[in-house]
Amino acid sequence: MPNRERRRTKSDSHGMHALVLGCGPGGLLAAAHLAERGATVTVLAPDVDQPWRNRYGAWLDELQAVGLAGAAAETWVGPRLQTPRRDLALDRTYCRVDGEALRASLRRRIEANGGSFRAATVADDAALERARVALRADLVVDASGVPGRSPGPTPVRWQHAWGELLQLRDDGAFPAMRLMDWRPPEPERDTMWRARPSFLYAMPLGGGRVFVEETELIAAHPLPLDVLAARLHRRLAHEGVEIAERLEVERCRLPMSIRPAPPTRGVVDFGARAGMIHPATGYSLTRSAAVAPRLAAAVVRGFAAGARGEDLAAIGRARITTAAEAPGLRLLGFGADVLASFDGPEIAAFFEAFFTLPASAWTAMLSVPSSPWPLAHVMARVDRRSPASIRRRLWRMGWQRRNELVAAFAAGLRPAAEENA
Ligand SMILES: Cc1cc2nc3c(=O)[nH]c(=O)nc-3n(C[C@H](O)[C@H](O)[C@H](O)COP(=O)(O)OP(=O)(O)OC[C@H]3O[C@@H](n4cnc5c(N)ncnc54)[C@H](O)[C@@H]3O)c2cc1C
Repeated sequence: MPNRERRRTKSDSHGMHALVLGCGPGGLLAAAHLAERGATVTVLAPDVDQPWRNRYGAWLDELQAVGLAGAAAETWVGPRLQTPRRDLALDRTYCRVDGEALRASLRRRIEANGGSFRAATVADDAALERARVALRADLVVDASGVPGRSPGPTPVRWQHAWGELLQLRDDGAFPAMRLMDWRPPEPERDTMWRARPSFLYAMPLGGGRVFVEETELIAAHPLPLDVLAARLHRRLAHEGVEIAERLEVERCRLPMSIRPAPPTRGVVDFGARAGMIHPATGYSLTRSAAVAPRLAAAVVRGFAAGARGEDLAAIGRARITTAAEAPGLRLLGFGADVLASFDGPEIAAFFEAFFTLPASAWTAMLSVPSSPWPLAHVMARVDRRSPASIRRRLWRMGWQRRNELVAAFAAGLRPAAEENA
C-alpha cells in the first residue's frame, strides 16, 4: 500500500497524530512503536538523514530482551575486567551495536506505518507550538537529547570519554574485549590518575582495527577531554601498542544524571532528555527500547479513551519511570554517588568485588530493576567483599542519606498501582 494511503487508513482508524523531536535512538524507537500502534507520526530533527554520531555497545541478552538482537554486530564472550590485581573474564556476552543497521531498520518501521521525516530544528517553546499547530499534533514526544530544545535539562553528573578508532600494526595487540581496564595508564607515575581515575574500554574489531576509549565513569566536574586523550596515548604507548593510523575520534560528553526541565504542556520527554540513562553506567539504548512500547501503548489507549492535551501527555510521562522502578533508580543514584567518590585504587577494588559476584547478581545492578531489594542485596554482598576503606565510605554515605534510602525502600514495599503494559 502506498504510504499516503496507508497513512490515511491509520489516521482514520485511530486519529492520533504524534510529533517526535529528535532522530537519535530515543526518538526513532518512540516513533517506531507509536507508528506501529496506529499513530500518524512525524519525526522532526536537523539530522534526519545522517548516521548517529555515537558508537553504541550493549549486553547481548539486554538487546535480545528488547527485540533488537538483529542490531548486534561483533559479539565478545567473556569481556574482561582488569585491575592491577585481577584479570577477570566476565560471564556475559557484550556486543557492538550496528548503529547504521538499527537506524535504518527503525526508519523502515516508521515509514512502513505511514510515518514521515522532516529536517528541522525546534529551538524553543514558541517554535514547538508552531510545529504542533502546523502538524495538528495531539502529542509531542521530545527526544531532542541534552541540551536539545530549549529549555533543556541541566546535567548534574557527567561521563567524559575520549575514543579513537585505530588501525594497529599488530592484529594481536588486543586479544580480548576490555569492558573496563582500571589499571593506571603508567603505573609508576600516575598520581593524577589515583585522584581522578579513568578506565580503558577496548573493542577489538578484527583486521588490526580496535576502538579504544579512555573514560572517566562519573563526575560532577569531569576531566577535560584533552586530559583523557593524553592518558589514552600514554596508556597505549606504555603497553607498546603500535598505531598505523588513527581513523576516527569520538568525543563523549554524556550527562549521567540531569535535573529535568519543567514539563511542557502536552509534551512527553524521552531518551537522554528524560534522564533515561543508567545512573551508574551511562547506558541508555536498551532502556529506551524497553520503555518505548509501553509509552506508545499507553498514549494510544489514552487517546482512544478520550484523553487530550496535557492529560494525554501525563499518561505518557507516567510510563517513563513506573512507580515500581523509581525506588531502584534512587538506589542506583546513591550507588553512582558512591562511585564518584572513589579514588583510583578504591574504584579498582570496588569493581573487583562487584564483578567477582555471580553474573546473575551484578547483572541486576546494570539495568533498571523493578524493585530496590535485589539491588540492596547485591550492595550488601559487594560491601562484605570490599576493603575496609570502601566499606566505611558506603556506610558513611548511607548514613548521611538515610532518609532518602529509607524512603526508597518504603516505596519499594508498596504494591505498584500502575500497570506496565
Ligand atoms: C559518545 C557517546 C557514546 C555512548 N555510548 C553508549 C553505549 O555504548 N550504549 C548505550 O546504551 N548508551 C550510550 N550512550 C548514551 C545514550 O545511549 C546516548 O546518549 C543516546 O544517543 C541517547 O539517545 P537520544 O535519542 O535520547 O538522544 P540523542 O542521540 O542525543 O539524539 C538527539 C536527537 O535530537 C535532535 N535534536 C537536538 N536538538 C533538537 C532540536 N532543538 N529540535 C529537533 N531535534 C533536535 C538531534 O539532532 C538528534 O537527532 C552514549 C552517549 C554518548 C554521548
